[in-house]
Amino acid sequence: EKVCIDGLGIDKVLLDLDSREKLSKDYYWYSPVLEKRLKDKIADSIVRPESDAEVETLLKIAYHHKVPVTVRGAGTGNYGQAIPLEGGIVLDLSKLDQILEWGENSVRVQCGVRLGALERAARERELELRIYPSTFMKATVGGYVCGGSGGIGSITWGDLWDGNVSEVVVYTMEEEPRRLVVSGEDLPAYIHNYGTTGILTELVIPLAPKTEWEQSIVFFDDFMQAMEFSHDLSHDDSIRKRLISPHEWPIPSYFRPLKKVVLPEKAAVLLETEEGSQPALARLAELHGGTVGHYIPAEKYRSGIGLSDFGWNHTTLWALKCENNITYLQAGFSLAHFREQVKLVKETFGDEVLLHFEWMRSRGTVTPSSLPVVRYTTEERLNEIIDFFNTNGIHVANPHTYSLDSGGRGILPLMKQKKQENDPLRLLNPGKID
Ligand code: FAD
Repeated sequence: EKVCIDGLGIDKVLLDLDSREKLSKDYYWYSPVLEKRLKDKIADSIVRPESDAEVETLLKIAYHHKVPVTVRGAGTGNYGQAIPLEGGIVLDLSKLDQILEWGENSVRVQCGVRLGALERAARERELELRIYPSTFMKATVGGYVCGGSGGIGSITWGDLWDGNVSEVVVYTMEEEPRRLVVSGEDLPAYIHNYGTTGILTELVIPLAPKTEWEQSIVFFDDFMQAMEFSHDLSHDDSIRKRLISPHEWPIPSYFRPLKKVVLPEKAAVLLETEEGSQPALARLAELHGGTVGHYIPAEKYRSGIGLSDFGWNHTTLWALKCENNITYLQAGFSLAHFREQVKLVKETFGDEVLLHFEWMRSRGTVTPSSLPVVRYTTEERLNEIIDFFNTNGIHVANPHTYSLDSGGRGILPLMKQKKQENDPLRLLNPGKID
């Protein structure tokens, strides 16, 4: 079924059940808790605008009829961020996919541009993305800024709150939607906002000069050796890096495409470092009792599967392919105490919680952030694990809630203020922010 709405052109509205089911869902099923709560949620219609003017028209109509609007980029979020809790319209912005303007060290894009396409285009101009999620081939720039946090590159450039968004164009949800051009101190109201404070149609993001990246895996007998190695590498400013991702055994055994290169029973550190860094890496590995066991030269970067396809939240995906009771947490270990914290988690939970880390920077400080793989039994047990982590100084950003108030990472007071100003009828993605 297709309909035409005045000012929106033909074929912009989808009403058929298949489209509504497919485009009302994201990767919420990573969480058995969210899967139970969200599986029946569905939009009444999907609207796919192709210009800012069409977005504006749709917002006016929705405001007039008091219909909720939930934005969708590529729908790869993990917390049901893009799922319409109260039905209404899912506004699919994936057709706003034009790269608008290259600056010397930045780019202006429409929100639906895929990060993978942007990285490719940037590298042709001797530039590259600073940070991107491991889902970059599918994920959109708008979806990343409004639903993500950090990723590959974050070891050098930090996360979304570290100056990695320069400007956004925002439409408000009012009788006459306002078009805001936002930069500076108001920006955090729109970062990780789940589309609750406004609809972003354009973004300007800073870029880095292109680096030739080689990939390698360093193996260690013991996970703590892998942690010490990756701790030292994270702090070594003489080696440029994009990915430092240590995994305890048996996580590497989940990486089926790497079956021939993974060493049994060993902890593995997945690396993207600048071309020519192998001698320094080998020295550092040896110092910590490890060896470089797999190497992909820079000319093979982006040809076939890369090591970042196994890090960040892709690790959970590979684990899920092998065991069906897998879920995960998002845990900020402490730089000063991660050794004791890792020991404590292993002593307390054994193989129920499997650790891998993504070393990153946050507000300039190197941090051991982790997405532990959890062998799930019950919601109560999951909450016990979360409580244990929090009590022991390992801050959990709970990925088993769709609420920005209880699980989000954004700056809540500012978001709430802008919510009030920009969406007085609370029609944007209702239920995601109090
Ligand atoms: P969507 O899921 O479509 O949307 C995300 C949120 O933003 C939703 O609330 C949506 O309403 C809102 N939104 C989307 N576009 C707009 C807009 N234009 N204006 C206003 N609101 C909008 N995340 C990370 O941060 N780092 C990772 O490394 C990472 N790895 C992942 C690995 C896997 C295997 C999976 C499944 C997920 C991972 N994620 C990660 C989560 C997710 O993939 C990313 O955050 C991704 O950038 C989301 O982009 P998207 O286009 O799919 O957004």
